[in-house]
Amino acid sequence: ITILGIETSCDETSAAVLVDGVDLRSNIISSQIEIHKKFGGVVPEVASRKHLENVHPVIIEALEKADVTPGDLSAVAVTYGPGLVGALLVGVAAAKAMAYALDIPLIGVNHLEGHIAANFLAQPDLEFPLLCLVVSGGHSDLVYLPSRGEYRLLGRTRDDAAGEAFDKVARAMGLGYPGGPLIDKLAREGNPEAVQFPRAFLEEGSLDFSFSGLKSAVLNYLNRAAMLKEDINKADLAASFQRAVVEVLVEKTMMAVQRTGVKTIMMAGGVAANGGLRALLQERASAAGCRVVLPPLHLCTDNAAMIACAGYYKYLRGDFAPLTLNAVPALALGHDKY
Ligand code: ATP
Ligand code: MG
Ligand code: FE
Repeated sequence: ITILGIETSCDETSAAVLVDGVDLRSNIISSQIEIHKKFGGVVPEVASRKHLENVHPVIIEALEKADVTPGDLSAVAVTYGPGLVGALLVGVAAAKAMAYALDIPLIGVNHLEGHIAANFLAQPDLEFPLLCLVVSGGHSDLVYLPSRGEYRLLGRTRDDAAGEAFDKVARAMGLGYPGGPLIDKLAREGNPEAVQFPRAFLEEGSLDFSFSGLKSAVLNYLNRAAMLKEDINKADLAASFQRAVVEVLVEKTMMAVQRTGVKTIMMAGGVAANGGLRALLQERASAAGCRVVLPPLHLCTDNAAMIACAGYYKYLRGDFAPLTLNAVPALALGHDKY
């Protein structure tokens, strides 16, 4: 079974060819980071236009690199939400055109289901139930998977997503965009105990997250230092901020483990690439007798390989979308709309 995956939900135009759910033949990612950098974040209208320019060449390149012709494809899987509506529409239109022209099934994939599926690319045989901490630019979710294709949301962010907090703090520190990888790198040379920042655990037993208070605390710290003309140690600041985010994420993940009794924890999304987060989760999980599964670093951020993988399992279930499939910008996990 050969699946072409297409991803255009944000600022990466990506296409991938995946055979039988594990054999990744190609995963072409055309990133627009250089374009959006000067604005300090993704400009939706610019993103849509770039996707339109890139989507066709990226698909051709993915097929060529995989040494596959359109006639070899079993189905086309595409991200149809959540994401920027104009960006999503480009991928959805391309996928619909291909499915129609080739007379093969169209598969609509939730972007977060894709992020989670990045774990199954290398480890297709994980035993359910599973737990996944999804931490990305727009989401911080604790998701329980009772069986394949079933998702229950145990906790979510009430304000900023984890990745958003990294990006905003990095911007305030003058580090650049996207901020996550830059803070991660800087934090390696800093002391995480140097600055005491608040950890928001919310009500007793809550599995929700909140990072806006922490973000404000960092901004206040920077403003105060600027006012007093004090030098700040950026590495210490990055390490202290990162530790505050990571401790809450891992603590709540372990609470969810206790509550659900799962034995295997997965992570997904761009922030899952964070060195401090990967290390602390491994440490706490092994102390609790749990196994941790992590996607390789290059499959944490947006890519079409993960979409093709989620699409493969939907293909096996016969879960196909009609050619009337539309972009759904606020699509919820486990609630397909087609
Ligand atoms: P969503 O998936 O919620 O729609 P998105 O697709 O924009 O949002 P991703 O591509 O999954 O998000 O991840 C991008 C985010 O991950 C950015 O906020 C970026 O700063 C963050 N990120 C990437 N690498 C790291 C890292 N090493 N440490 C922390 N954050 C990181
Ligand atoms: Mg991106
Ligand atoms: Fe994403």
